[in-house]
Amino acid sequence: MAPAHLPPALPGRKRRIAMMTSGGDSQGMNGATRAVVRMAIDRGCEVYCIKEGYEGLVKGGDQIQKFEWPDVRGWLSANGTLIGTARCMAFYERPGRLTAAKNMVLNGIDALIICGGDGSLTGADKFRSEWPSLLEELVATKQLTAEQTEPFKHLNIVGLVGSIDNDMSGTDATIGCFSALTRICELVDCIESTALSHSRAFVVEVMGRHCGWLALMAGVACGADFVFIPEKPRAGNWREEMCKIHRKVGKRQTIVIVAEGAHDQEGNKISPDMIKDLLADKNGLALDTRITTLGHVQRGGKACAFDRYLATLQGVEAVNAVLDATPETPTPFIAITENKITRKPLVQAVLDTKEVTKAIESRDFDRAMSLRDTEFSDMYNSYMTTTATGLNDSMRLPPTKNMRIAIIHVGAPAGGVNAATRAAVAYCLTRGHTPIAIHNGFAGFARHHDDKPLGAVREFDWLEVDGWASRGGSEIGMNRETPEESGMELIASLFKQYKFDGLFIIGGFEAFHSLSQLRKARDQYSSLCIPMTLLPATISNNVPGSEYSLGSDTCLNELISYCDTIKQSASASRRRVFVIETQGGRSGYVATLAGLAVGAVAVYTPEEGISIDMLAADIQHLREAFKTDRGQSSSGRLILVNEKASKVYSARLIADIIRDEAHGRFEARDSIPGHVQQGGIPSPMDRTRAVRLAIKCIEQLEAFEDRTDETIRQDPQSCTVIGIKGASVVFSPMKVVEAEETDWANRRPKNEFWVELKHTVDTLSGRPEVPRPESPLVGWKAKDRKRGLI
Ligand code: ADP
Repeated sequence: MAPAHLPPALPGRKRRIAMMTSGGDSQGMNGATRAVVRMAIDRGCEVYCIKEGYEGLVKGGDQIQKFEWPDVRGWLSANGTLIGTARCMAFYERPGRLTAAKNMVLNGIDALIICGGDGSLTGADKFRSEWPSLLEELVATKQLTAEQTEPFKHLNIVGLVGSIDNDMSGTDATIGCFSALTRICELVDCIESTALSHSRAFVVEVMGRHCGWLALMAGVACGADFVFIPEKPRAGNWREEMCKIHRKVGKRQTIVIVAEGAHDQEGNKISPDMIKDLLADKNGLALDTRITTLGHVQRGGKACAFDRYLATLQGVEAVNAVLDATPETPTPFIAITENKITRKPLVQAVLDTKEVTKAIESRDFDRAMSLRDTEFSDMYNSYMTTTATGLNDSMRLPPTKNMRIAIIHVGAPAGGVNAATRAAVAYCLTRGHTPIAIHNGFAGFARHHDDKPLGAVREFDWLEVDGWASRGGSEIGMNRETPEESGMELIASLFKQYKFDGLFIIGGFEAFHSLSQLRKARDQYSSLCIPMTLLPATISNNVPGSEYSLGSDTCLNELISYCDTIKQSASASRRRVFVIETQGGRSGYVATLAGLAVGAVAVYTPEEGISIDMLAADIQHLREAFKTDRGQSSSGRLILVNEKASKVYSARLIADIIRDEAHGRFEARDSIPGHVQQGGIPSPMDRTRAVRLAIKCIEQLEAFEDRTDETIRQDPQSCTVIGIKGASVVFSPMKVVEAEETDWANRRPKNEFWVELKHTVDTLSGRPEVPRPESPLVGWKAKDRKRGLI
């Protein structure tokens, strides 16, 4: 515990960083606290945690506690926020903030990292802007001396956004929003099955007073029939539209999702009861309708994989931001844009967030939408497109522009493949194109004339596809065979026979390879001179051209829940190491990201390899760790090893060696989750991204509708892979990606964006510098550990 009165900051003393969680709790906050504590210590600082948000800062005393490395062991998988949070009325007023400032100075705190929602960060911004005058007042009222306040004249604050609503402007995702979305989707999936059995309608109310992110994303992920969000109220005729959707499609179940803050264009609240009355109206649809208000369950449960690594990476970045700050640096908060973690000015984000609320209140809904990030409006448009299927002709193209678009799955199943197909089909139908399913990949296509003359290639039927939003596996079947293996001449002749005008491939590295073969064969076959695009989908996330592939998030979620369970199974003996083998082909992505999300002691990847010296050093580290363990956490320790990390050292062998070398001081076991990693029901992130990216892919194909063979051959954009690269979604020409970005021998991208993240896993687990095997890819040096993150 920190003494109540500390001497003022002195030159040469370690920097003292304080961490606080504030406002509504959200899953992932503990991951942020763990990362801040460990990164700060790793970078030579002292770290304090402030209990109960601003309440603790105002109270001081034992509410401000020094934290050491082991104090946060096991926190990644702990729910809620272990350092507590509270609403603090005193902090709204200047006297409360004055006392808080005094406590900061008395405890010698140089910098404050706050993880909270827009309220907490607004409070932080106010605190920062008042800081000089607060110090002056403390001196003027003789509560502190000028000497005491002098070293603290620059308040160093960094914000981390922790909120389930995802309501902060300037960042795509807040810590906790994907966990809340996961909970909502789990519950809606359950509701959907009972709705289907009883042919019922359900109106589900989800959180979000000023922000419709949760409602919208749940609508996209679950394929809900209607969604009400505050930013974009439905137009006047929504009552008729809602009834039309149910009738037209002839479905057995109807799901309507309403955000708490939903209202109509005149600002009148839309309540679940109103919707129920409408659906149940005896003179209308007369549906058996139930209301489910999800309430606080949305806050609870486990942090999903994304929240764990987002919180971890952002916590690390917050410490770096503190240490990089100069008196001139504007107060930052840590954001994420697509896949890139960035620092942005806090003041602007707070102002923009307030603007959204104002725009909604003044019914300027276009402005409210424009102030949300691009992913939000993309999702909204995607949602509207998929639900308007068969109902709305406004997006229909003239018949001359209609295309026959083939959709094929190549590789092994990955979460989100069906959702992507459903969205592509919906978009095609809305535009007047003909979406055609090729069953069982190129192998099925090539052989279909032998056994199933009509079955393997057929037009999609919307009624069937509409139910695929949350389904795992591949409804049209997948196969790893490439067109060359099937026979390129045959494939080209089938393209001609079926008169395809465009090809949409969904799949992993084999799909990438197939597309490359088709592109190269265009010189020989005119039927292949059509636009083609690939949406990467594989749990390994090893497709060049994208930092994200569908299914990788589902896989990480399966893995962390497997690891959590296994870790806990060691609670009786307390002295157990588990060596867990992950999939991922020759890419260490899954192992590394799962390692980041579960706090693995070490991660072994194919990029780096494994050597005997490395194992010896890790075993020595484990010996030390068990020797000094004061029992902070009862769970076991984990080592993650990718299936192809070494030709010699398998998970079993590594566990055997560790056990033998431990000489009875601790236990070691191997464990292989295998195909469990493909996941059952795809994660909401995979499902929603599937929808957004699939629609973009068909739009990309449309752009080449009227091109000649020669222009198609010449234009690199006519054959592309869609990907998230850093902060953008881009279509990269296959020609370039194949030649410049692909490590063909290892079936992975040449420069994998996540390789740097391995430093973070090591740093946060306290892994010492271990001898690294010689590797052509990564030159591991001690100084690398101190480099930036992404
Ligand atoms: P959230 O951070 O989840 O949006 P709140 O809006 O309740 O949650 O804010 C959390 C705490 O932050 C409040 O209890 C209060 O102590 C502080 N706070 C919020 N808004 C302000 C403000 N405008 N000025 C000062 N402090 C604030």
